[in-house]
Amino acid sequence: MQESWQNEMRRRITDLTDEQNSKLIHELVQKNALPFAATDYWLSLADEDYRTCKRDDRGVPLDPILAQALPSPAELEFSALESIDPLNESTHSPYPRIVHQYPSRILLRTTGECALFCRHCFRRSLLPQERGFISESTENKLTDYLKAHQEVREVLISGGDPLTASDARLAKLFTGIREAGANILIRLCTRMPVSLPSRVSPEFLGMLKGFKPLQVVLHINHPKELSDVFIEKAGLFLEAGLPVHSQTVLLRGINDNPETLVSLFSRLTRIGIDPYYLFQGDLAAGTGHFRVPMSRGLALYEELRKQLSGLELPRFAVDAPDGAGKLYLPESVVGREGDFWILRAPDGSLHRYPEETD
Ligand code: SF4
Repeated sequence: MQESWQNEMRRRITDLTDEQNSKLIHELVQKNALPFAATDYWLSLADEDYRTCKRDDRGVPLDPILAQALPSPAELEFSALESIDPLNESTHSPYPRIVHQYPSRILLRTTGECALFCRHCFRRSLLPQERGFISESTENKLTDYLKAHQEVREVLISGGDPLTASDARLAKLFTGIREAGANILIRLCTRMPVSLPSRVSPEFLGMLKGFKPLQVVLHINHPKELSDVFIEKAGLFLEAGLPVHSQTVLLRGINDNPETLVSLFSRLTRIGIDPYYLFQGDLAAGTGHFRVPMSRGLALYEELRKQLSGLELPRFAVDAPDGAGKLYLPESVVGREGDFWILRAPDGSLHRYPEETD
C-alpha cells in the first residue's frame, strides 16, 4: 500500500547527523528562526547524499536541491538592509495573517507549516510564529471582510504551505470564500507538488474542482524539481481544468545562469505550466547569500528575453522593500544613485533597492 502524504510529513528529516550542522539546526530552533525540515522525496532529487554533500566556503551545499533545504551558517548573518518583514506586510494587515496590500486582492497566510522549509524563504522569520493553521475566528473575519470589501476580486491562499492542511480543512476555508462571492478568484500558492507530490491526489483535485474559479501557483526554482512524478501530478491539475502557473526566485548558485533558467521555463511551458514570475530576491534577514546583485539579475533577464519565446518568458519583478508592492523589471528602473537602484511604481512614487556585491 502506498504511504499516505500525512505519514511522509511526519517522517520528514529534521536534523543532521554531523555534529556541526546539528548544532546549527538547534541554534536556529532556539532563536525561533526557520527550522529545518525536508521530505525524503525532496532529498532524493539531489545528486548527493544530504549527510555528506559538498559545501562552499560559506557552508552552503553545492547541489541546487540541497542548497534550498539544508541550513548554513550564512543564515545567521544579517545585513542592515534586511528585514524580518521584507514586504512590509504588517502595515497592510487589517487582521493578523490577512494582508490587504492591493485594492483588488487579499492575501491569507494560512499557516507557517511547510513540507520543506526553503532556506531562501522571504517569510522565514514569520513561519515559526505562525505554525498552526488559521483559527475559525480568522476565517470568519476573512469572510466578513470580503463581504464588506466588494472591490476584492481575488484571494491568495498562501502560508507557509496551505496544502499542509487536510482536504476537509481547505474545503471549509474555500466554502467561506465562496459564501462571500461566487466569482472571487482563489489563487492557491503552494510548493507541495514539488516537495511532497503525494499530497496531490484525485480526491484532493475532486475537492478543488468544486471551488472554481481557482488557479494554482507553484514555487519552482530548478529543472531538477521537474521529476516524472511531479509532471504526472501537475497533469492532474490541468486535467481538472485548473490553470497552473509557476513562480521562481532568482537564487545565487542555484539558478542564476541562463542555461538553468532557459531549461526550467521552456520545460515548464511544455508541461502546460505558465511561467508567471521570476523574482529578484527580497531583502529577507539571513538570505543575503542567496541574493543575486540587481545588475546581474537585469543582465540575466536580458539574455532570457533573447532565448525564450513569449510563452516561455516569465515577468521579472521585485517587491519594493518599503511595502510599495511588486515592481516590474526592467520597466520600473529609472536609474542608479550610488549603491541603490531607483524604481518607479505605477503611481509614480520612487523606491530604492540596493545593488549588492556578488
Ligand atoms: S514552501 Fe514557501 S512558505 Fe514554505 S519555506 Fe518554502 S518558500 Fe517559504
